[in-house]
Amino acid sequence: MPANGPDQDPVHKVLEPGLYIVATPIGNLGDITLRSIRALEACDGVACEDTRVTGKLLKHLNISKPLWRYNDHSEAKDRKRLVESMASRAVVLVSDAGTPLVSDPGYRLVADARAAGVMITSLPGPCAAIAGLTVSGMPNDRFLFAGFLPVKEKARRDALDELAGVDATLVFYETAPRLVRSLDAIGAVLSGRSIAVAREMTKLHEECRTGTAEDLIAHYTAHPPKGEIVLLIAPPNGTLPDDMNTDEMLRDALADMKPSQAAGMVAKVSGKDRKLLYARALELRSS
Ligand code: SAM
Repeated sequence: MPANGPDQDPVHKVLEPGLYIVATPIGNLGDITLRSIRALEACDGVACEDTRVTGKLLKHLNISKPLWRYNDHSEAKDRKRLVESMASRAVVLVSDAGTPLVSDPGYRLVADARAAGVMITSLPGPCAAIAGLTVSGMPNDRFLFAGFLPVKEKARRDALDELAGVDATLVFYETAPRLVRSLDAIGAVLSGRSIAVAREMTKLHEECRTGTAEDLIAHYTAHPPKGEIVLLIAPPNGTLPDDMNTDEMLRDALADMKPSQAAGMVAKVSGKDRKLLYARALELRSS
């Protein structure tokens, strides 16, 4: 049940000055919310990544507003001016698609607006990471969103290595040309894990394909993918945190070993996964 009736809703016909963070569709234009339309209609202007992309959305909605190009690389003086304007103007922030700030610009703007005491509110809506999580069939009680994997091979494998012990579904954004390379790296570093490729969600050719890295590499090598992709990796089987024996062994070993050495030693003795033990060793060392 919504907590606010129309009378209490800050998104009225006349908006109070401030920053309105508005999510926009990730494909299907029908996914814009009623409140988002109301905010776009009533605001004084829209800060956006690309004025052409947002211009098209506003045209579809039959709305005409000043559009101001903004991203996190915009000059500090432009950001300052935009934040100052929020004292007297209602500014909507959108990105090209989905929820602003989620692998999209806005973080610095929101941080500066917050520091300046500006009224800030979020109008939630589409987000590819969340849509991917919901269709994947993977555990969603705990998930870790890690944005895009690095482009360079070694950095990509290192990033996966760092996440190997995390007991949660891992969620990444991915591009079609890089999908098979990322699956290769996942197969090498996180062998045997279930993977889901959620592609073109809310669009005509939407699909969610699941399997091991090997299954998916075979499929997407034969059928090169197109469009936008969320890549999900199921959590590792078995959890270490409750295992007091390996915890004790790790604690003892950490007294005079580096975490990597301690994990290697305990892995040999216990037969457990070295990467999970390494992640646990890092946790124990900092606790
Ligand atoms: N802020 C956006 C959000 O909330 O979804 C994400 C912006 S990020 C720059 C763009 C990435 O989101 C794409 O490269 C792709 O990985 C993912 N994405 C966006 N739309 C998608 C869709 N319809 N289906 C699958 N993935 C999508």
